[in-house]
Amino acid sequence: MIQDINSHFYNQHKQTKPEETDFVLCCKNDAVLCAERDRKLCFPTVSQLKTVGAYLFSVGSTKYFAGESDEFADYTYLNARTAANHAEREKAFAAVTGAHLLNWYNDNRFCGRCGNKMHHSQTERAMVCACGNVVYPKICPAVIVAIIHDGRICLTKYNRGYAHWALVAGYCEIGETVEQTVHREVMEEVGIRVKNLRYYKSQPWGRSSSLLFGFFCEAEGDALLTVDNNELKEAKWFSPDEIDFEDDKVSLTREMIGLFKSGAYKNLLP
Ligand SMILES: [Zn+2]
Repeated sequence: MIQDINSHFYNQHKQTKPEETDFVLCCKNDAVLCAERDRKLCFPTVSQLKTVGAYLFSVGSTKYFAGESDEFADYTYLNARTAANHAEREKAFAAVTGAHLLNWYNDNRFCGRCGNKMHHSQTERAMVCACGNVVYPKICPAVIVAIIHDGRICLTKYNRGYAHWALVAGYCEIGETVEQTVHREVMEEVGIRVKNLRYYKSQPWGRSSSLLFGFFCEAEGDALLTVDNNELKEAKWFSPDEIDFEDDKVSLTREMIGLFKSGAYKNLLP
């Protein structure tokens, strides 16, 4: 998955001065400034930009800072989906995670309580205002659900956005547990009840500022799917043989579908 990289990811907040060879991540909406050279993903360095902002994180010994820049030389804005799938895994993870943070910084330049300018906290990763408002990075919990019934898995296609077969998924609402989100989203999207929920793994998914919780579970009753056409184009049951795509080594969704296809999911259910 995208977060499974060989180097350690250091996300602790700290005050540190940028050095000339450190990387700078610049972000516009869902795109990151980078260049591709010999199939390598390159980010601008501190020495190439006039101003450099906050320290973001380190991947191994490589430090990343925030920046702002137009395109220059061979550096262009590459959309985060393409960056996420790049073969250079550590840079791909840095690009997506950096975009997550930079979008949050951009969205919190002014205080939502009093309207004044926000400032970087000196002690933690937060934006603070003189009025006392403290805003932490936005991380939205969400679930992805592999529903199993009679040796088949329920896959869905969205009306908009991601065009491939995926699992039932949705954001947690105020006041519910992630398990309750599973039951609600499954009922809303495909109209069935589920049981025997088994938590599998989580995944940070910076492209939607979310933290995904992956569950396997089993359908109850006749498992007749009733599709919510506001959200989904279609939903149907697939046997392992009918799944013709592989784990992309990026998303938790694909890893979980891969576990179903290989049969390894059986160890996760009672
Ligand atoms: Zn304020």
